[in-house]
Amino acid sequence: MKCALVTGGSRGIGKAICIKMAAMGYYVLVNYKSNEAEANDTLARIKENGGDGELLRFDVSGKEEIQSALNKWITHNPEKYIEVLVNNAGIKDDGRMLWMKDEQWDSVIKTSLDGFFYVTRTVLNSMLLKKYGRIVNVVSLSGLKGLPGQTNYSAAKAGVIGATKALAQEVGRKGVTVNAVAPGFIKTDMTSGLDEKEMAVLVPVRRFGTAEEVAHAVGFLASPEASYITGQVLSVNGGLYS
Ligand code: NAP
Repeated sequence: MKCALVTGGSRGIGKAICIKMAAMGYYVLVNYKSNEAEANDTLARIKENGGDGELLRFDVSGKEEIQSALNKWITHNPEKYIEVLVNNAGIKDDGRMLWMKDEQWDSVIKTSLDGFFYVTRTVLNSMLLKKYGRIVNVVSLSGLKGLPGQTNYSAAKAGVIGATKALAQEVGRKGVTVNAVAPGFIKTDMTSGLDEKEMAVLVPVRRFGTAEEVAHAVGFLASPEASYITGQVLSVNGGLYS
């Protein structure tokens, strides 16, 4: 059975990606950190649409936790194989560098960059053995152009962009593609503190995007037909210059 693992699948963009993956016929592993109610809601919505999946809780910022949860799942499910991996989990904790605490730097880097590394390394081997895989990393406009107040977040996302391009070159001949999607302003809990009316004037299409619009781009890059696209960053930002 072919599976798609989506990190941070309980809310926002990750929830929409889980629903998209299920609509594409995948058995979806819905990862989350702590919001079990929202993770269950994602699974319920997958099932309502005739899909299937299960919850797989682990904290992507914890190396041991990732390895133990994922290796346990792999051992207990020899008939299943993770064909699509979407590294979506991410947090922000903004502040000007002069006042940024160690903990703000560490937590943001660990969640996006370390999370990408340890989750991907754990599932990559089976993709290489099967000679097929799709890895899509959810990065950000902030990682492309840098945003003031986000040295931690911009560095984490730019790091994932560099790793996307490097890994794509390592595994291309094995049928595994590695791409990134870079959202701009998307309506989720992460942007709930922003004033859309005020910020939308900066966006050529004059509004924030939806999680479904990002999921559509992820679904495209995760599709079998996107086999000649690798090492790319696809912006989903309403035309914001990046
Ligand atoms: P969100 O609404 O805040 O949701 C974050 C999701 O990530 C939740 O499912 C959360 O799980 C999960 N998560 C956070 N830390 C985790 C950890 N350590 N381990 C496992 N799961 C973890 O965020 P979002 O807006 O959907 O963002 C999704 C991705 O898009 C992030 O990588 C973000 O950086 C990126 N992005 C977002 C925007 C935007 O405008 N929203 C723009 C550019 C890029 P729990 O529910 O269990 O907490």
